[in-house]
Amino acid sequence: VRIYVSGDIKVQALRGFSLKVRENEFLAIMGPSGSGKTTLLNLIGGIDEPTAGRIVVGGIDLAGMTEEERDSFRLREVGYVFQTLNLISGLNAKENIELPLVAAGADHDTVASRASELLEIVGLEHRAVHMPWELSGGERQRLAIAMALANDPWLILADEPTGDLDQENARTVVAYLRKCVDEMGKTVIMVTHDPTMARYADRICLIADGRAVSVFTPAGSPDLESGTYDFHLRRRLSEIDDELAALEDRVKQGAIRGPEYAEKYATLVRTRDVLTEELHRLGH
Ligand code: ADP
Ligand code: MG
Repeated sequence: VRIYVSGDIKVQALRGFSLKVRENEFLAIMGPSGSGKTTLLNLIGGIDEPTAGRIVVGGIDLAGMTEEERDSFRLREVGYVFQTLNLISGLNAKENIELPLVAAGADHDTVASRASELLEIVGLEHRAVHMPWELSGGERQRLAIAMALANDPWLILADEPTGDLDQENARTVVAYLRKCVDEMGKTVIMVTHDPTMARYADRICLIADGRAVSVFTPAGSPDLESGTYDFHLRRRLSEIDDELAALEDRVKQGAIRGPEYAEKYATLVRTRDVLTEELHRLGH
């Protein structure tokens, strides 16, 4: 659970989100804007703390870590590809990659050789001395992935890494993330709005209104062949209709009281609204 409090206003960004991610898995997280995706990544990455609940990463409860342990965790065990790229505009591509290495205390030679290696991994060796603004959107995003990989973390968190890219560049970027899982043994959690990109993942978690609505694999199930994401949105919508009907029956029978009914009703209706909006966004 993560509740943001500012003054008298409380925002329930996560309302009891529970999910287990496997080691060496590529998990995509999809959901409407404001559904809690960035909040979730920030919690997993140790940037933010939950209001209630536990986050266990690599067998270790983040809440049990000291400040120092958490800093080291963020620096060495997690690679973060942020929604707004955190490239330093006054440094060239290679120097940007060197930053996290220097921060982790790597020696001079290691920094230089590792930075070259990373540029190669993301196919940017010919762009080493280019400044961020001289790179295309896709190249900048690949540079951000190289930075995330710098200290060889086993967990990569990527928040809408293809948000500003055309389909071709987006595919290249996601293919690199796929490579991180298949060839480097990493675990990747990627937030995306794009069902085409989510298909590269091993599993897709659909989040709405701060809860995991469903978790499914992009291929395999025959009824999922076209538009897996729409399918799950629709299925959840029809479940909500059933739940609303059931709820109404229960209050009529006196099985539940007014306040409980009102709260459950409001939550279901809110979820229905965000899912409906998301279907509209997708052009349905
Ligand atoms: P997403 O990434 O899915 O778009 P976020 O995790 O950014 O969603 O936000 C979830 C909800 O929490 C939204 O309603 C958002 O306005 C709210 N929120 C996010 N960050 C803060 C904050 N620092 N203070 C208050 N509310 C916030
Ligand atoms: Mg976000």
